[in-house]
Amino acid sequence: MTVRTRFAPSPTGFLHIGGARTALYNYLYAKKNRGAFILRVEDTDAERNTESSMDIILDSMKWLGLNWDEGPRVGGEYGPYNQSERSDIYDRYLGQLEENGYVYEENDAIRFRVPDKTITVNDEICGDVSANLKEQGSRRYNQETKQEEEANPDIVIRRPDGSYIFHFVNVVDDIEMGITHVIRGEDHISNTPKHLALFEAIGAIPPVFAHIPLNLNPSGSKMGKRDEGALIHEYRDGGFLPEAVNNYMALLGWSAKDDTEIFTMAELTERFDLPGVTKSNSKFDFTKCKWVNAEHLKRLSPEALLEAARSFVDDANLPADDPRMPAALELARERAEVLAEIPDVIETIFAEEATYDDTSVEKVKGREGVADVVKALRDGLAGVDDWNVDSIKAGIAAAAEGIGAKMGALMLPCRVGVMGTTSGADLVPILELIGKEGVLKRLDIFAGKMA
Ligand code: GLU
Repeated sequence: MTVRTRFAPSPTGFLHIGGARTALYNYLYAKKNRGAFILRVEDTDAERNTESSMDIILDSMKWLGLNWDEGPRVGGEYGPYNQSERSDIYDRYLGQLEENGYVYEENDAIRFRVPDKTITVNDEICGDVSANLKEQGSRRYNQETKQEEEANPDIVIRRPDGSYIFHFVNVVDDIEMGITHVIRGEDHISNTPKHLALFEAIGAIPPVFAHIPLNLNPSGSKMGKRDEGALIHEYRDGGFLPEAVNNYMALLGWSAKDDTEIFTMAELTERFDLPGVTKSNSKFDFTKCKWVNAEHLKRLSPEALLEAARSFVDDANLPADDPRMPAALELARERAEVLAEIPDVIETIFAEEATYDDTSVEKVKGREGVADVVKALRDGLAGVDDWNVDSIKAGIAAAAEGIGAKMGALMLPCRVGVMGTTSGADLVPILELIGKEGVLKRLDIFAGKMA
């Protein structure tokens, strides 16, 4: 049997991290088993659906690299992949249910007769979950009267306006598209007995079900679209690597047996499995997500780092093709957790002059004898012939010795004098990249401020 999984989003205008994680698990499971990953658009709710809202979801999926084997934009044998274009298929299945006496009409809606028996979902993650739909649906709480009242347990599968309800089309499509494994959020587990009843009435073998626990926000409630880190397109804009986002999402509800945390996509594909999915809800942690990204940044080849950083570097008007850029990026990746932080770390290297931060300047200015220190530094560095990290260090050390100071005492004035601020990347490599002329020019300007 070829494994066929699917991700079945409704077009809501964004890809939420919870949905993206579901897509990822389906993708990994299919790829691990050399199966197919299908993207199906559940757009029967006409009001909410627009083409552009689907585009954002598809673009986010593409950015993550969760390429679907069948679905919108790529086609496939079982299309169309938008539910809004599959009405004739649903009509056909409805006809079959009608013929076999499983449905009836009531107030222009069509209802499916639920069986009066216990239905058990053998879920791969949650274990057995049972329900008797007839009993469960026969009573309903009335919000207005605040009382329980009798209800019709039979499920509406077609509305009076002729549109179909989620439960029905979801099941029909899983049958039609040959889906073997349904991996979806735990919020759907209460729907699954209804789905199993429909599978049985249609006479189809149901797929394997695996409901994954929810992803909560740091305060423990269901993560909403306004929570930090909720929307996938914001990761792209914020300078995350798609592979890192996939890695972090994988960890949100799954762990490897040996507690490894950093994975490439290929490693995830090999190692992901359903028994490793946790049974309890996961909690989103943006700090950890950034850490995972930083780890991925550290592992990029220099070429891939430049490629990934290019748009951020361009947007900051920094020269991506400057021969010093690869070395600058090496310094940056030691400090930046996301690509968007890189320009800040390296811009001083390519600037004409330092941009001085007043507080940092004041801090240095308050030191006794600082004018002499800056002068000694300037002269020491002016004497360095072969401008590289070692000789620059030697130059600073010699300058310190000349005025009877420790080398460490010269570092802060040097940093603020050249970079304009007390913080930032490793100083000496930055001095090397700025170049001798630029460094001396900056120290001259700084000496003026210290006088
Ligand atoms: N369209 C449903 C949702 O977005 C998909 C349910 C399923 O995966 O079966 O929640």
